[in-house]
Amino acid sequence: MAHSISELTSEKIGSLVILKGIVIKADEVKPKIDIATYTCERCGSENYLEVNNQHFQPMANCMSSRCTQEHANGNLTFVVKHSHFISTQAIKIQETPEQLKQGKIPRNLKIVLSHDNVRKVQPGDVVELQGTVVAKSKEGFSHEQDLIFDIKF
Ligand SMILES: [Zn+2]
Repeated sequence: MAHSISELTSEKIGSLVILKGIVIKADEVKPKIDIATYTCERCGSENYLEVNNQHFQPMANCMSSRCTQEHANGNLTFVVKHSHFISTQAIKIQETPEQLKQGKIPRNLKIVLSHDNVRKVQPGDVVELQGTVVAKSKEGFSHEQDLIFDIKF
């Protein structure tokens, strides 16, 4: 059974649901860093940092055995060419007229699609997305408005 945006409540956090809505906005596809690669200016080793969210902490010091054993704290340079990026696309979906209870204003939700799911939908499309409900950490779990979807098709 497909849910509407209004039916996403904090009890659904962590569950796999199907969300139905109409696409009202589709942003441009953007690259998002997945693995950041750094080269050590001292020993030349490459260091890899897996990036799981938008606010990543850049790597400061070289982790190679040579540099760590000598406590050298080798300076790192970020190497774009050796880093790995994934495609992401933010879309906004809204409740469809059929989902709306009389007199209610349709609610909308921003969803970030990634990998093969980008460039698949456009405004006006009615979509069913399967994903796990996750909450944005900054507002806590109680705000339905702050629920975001991690889409796994
Ligand atoms: Zn090093």
